[in-house]
Amino acid sequence: MNRNDMLRQAGEPAGPWDIIVVGGGATGVGVAVDAAARGYATLLLEQHDFGKGTSSRSTKLVHGGVRYLEQGNVSLVMEALKERGILRRNAPHLVSELEFVVPSYAWWEGPFYGIGLKLYQVLSGKYGFGPSRLISREETLRRLPNVNPDGLAGGVVYYDGQFDDARLLINLAATAAEQGATLLNYARVTGLLKDPDGIVKGLTWEDAETGDSYESHAKVVVNATGPFADTVRQLADPDVERLIVPSQGAHLVLDHSFLSGDTAIMVPHTSDGRVMFAIPWHGHTLVGTTDTPVGETPLEPVPLDEEIEFILETAGLYLEKKPARNDILSQFAGIRPLARSGRGSNTAALSRDHTIHIDRSGLLTIAGGKWTTYRNMAEDCVNQAATLADLPERQCVTRTLNIHGFSCIAAEFGPLAFHGADAPAIRELIDADAALGLPLDPELPYCGAEVIWAAREEMARTVEDALARRTRALFLNARAAIRMAPRAAELLAAELSRDAAWQRDQVAAFEKVAAGYLPR
Ligand SMILES: Cc1cc2nc3c(=O)[nH]c(=O)nc-3n(C[C@H](O)[C@H](O)[C@H](O)COP(=O)(O)OP(=O)(O)OC[C@H]3O[C@@H](n4cnc5c(N)ncnc54)[C@H](O)[C@@H]3O)c2cc1C
Repeated sequence: MNRNDMLRQAGEPAGPWDIIVVGGGATGVGVAVDAAARGYATLLLEQHDFGKGTSSRSTKLVHGGVRYLEQGNVSLVMEALKERGILRRNAPHLVSELEFVVPSYAWWEGPFYGIGLKLYQVLSGKYGFGPSRLISREETLRRLPNVNPDGLAGGVVYYDGQFDDARLLINLAATAAEQGATLLNYARVTGLLKDPDGIVKGLTWEDAETGDSYESHAKVVVNATGPFADTVRQLADPDVERLIVPSQGAHLVLDHSFLSGDTAIMVPHTSDGRVMFAIPWHGHTLVGTTDTPVGETPLEPVPLDEEIEFILETAGLYLEKKPARNDILSQFAGIRPLARSGRGSNTAALSRDHTIHIDRSGLLTIAGGKWTTYRNMAEDCVNQAATLADLPERQCVTRTLNIHGFSCIAAEFGPLAFHGADAPAIRELIDADAALGLPLDPELPYCGAEVIWAAREEMARTVEDALARRTRALFLNARAAIRMAPRAAELLAAELSRDAAWQRDQVAAFEKVAAGYLPR
């Protein structure tokens, strides 16, 4: 992926694009993969970096959603479990099976959750992961050496999927490009163009790097801007009724010692009825999440004080070592783009499923759903977009489409494993210059060669792109990421032909963003 080439392609279309997608999160990039793989001429525009929004801020689970089962939404869970299996098959370098234990502290909890989790396993059918079962107190302690032993009665084991959300997104963007799509980051859509009948026929956008403005025409425009979907809809009609009800979720990242094994903890009912996870992720412990209705949808949301307190308190009930504020290595928040189904603001009417909405202007908006179901959402969206735009009918092929980086032997690449099939090329950079293989900070495994690769092949344009989404340094340890920034800026400057002033500005800009990830 090369941004200069993409910019040239975006500026010189032969005619109108078949589909223009607005938004480079899981939903938009998923749509671009599907549309391009069907052979439709596809352009995707993202205002910041790919994955800057919610799609890099998830719990990193590829799952059916145990809580939706409890709500009786069996078909939603079945669909997601099927997608979980498809995603593991298509991106084995990034999706792996993760063992969970639900610890039980009352005699009835084991059998009660055991039945539900057995059903969860059965619903996954041929796409199943490992079997669910009740385990004794001793076995629970063996699998979760750091679980709070006081009053522990036993547990229930079940299996789900885990992934690296931003890495999968970058690999999906590469997949879309390989299928012929043109994708641009730092390209903000500023307006919608209409024909004399008021039907959307294109859009205006701005290259954030140069300030240049462009017009692009399309047979159909897909609005996949997640929490920002209503803002884009308002570009076509300022009076549209709102579709999105934003809800914030926060996570804390702690040292590995808080959950030292390979098994995750799932708490089905926190004190206020939510689900809470403690998960081993990239050698750290990830705990969360919350679900707090919010009015604003900033691009860089920060965890609220009460969210941090709640997560620390709840984690402290289940972990032997109680985490405190000064144990937090990084904290981050994301906004769920829940879609309102029907009228009114009643949260009970909020759909956890995805919604496709077509405005009178013909603007197609896809919102809601979850990361796990991005492929199925894209299939549904492109089917509808093709009908709307009268495109030649073509079958979806993504069910069996390998995602860029596909490798079944990724584990052999050690710290470069999550690059999958790209790892040997990164290794060649290190073979040519051993200094590029040294960690950029002793507390994280990331090296200079990965920053160079990010700029050369993955369209990383800034220090933040390299340290937050091409590597996950900022999400794992904000202080370490700040220490890495000057060297990352130096490496990027050499790749992107930037000067010393650019490096200084980049470090300052990164420190400003990273401040939101530091414990307060
Ligand atoms: C706390 C939390 C935990 C979650 N955990 C999980 C999980 O474990 N598993 C799971 O399956 N799902 C999970 N989800 C859900 C999942 O993360 C989201 O459903 C998904 O990431 C939404 O993707 P999206 O592309 O719709 O939105 P986003 O990722 O927000 O993408 C929208 C993009 O549109 C861009 N944009 C906005 N306006 C414009 C414009 N004018 N021009 C160009 N671009 C624009 C934004 O910059 C943004 O990048 C979680 C969600 C949250 C909040």
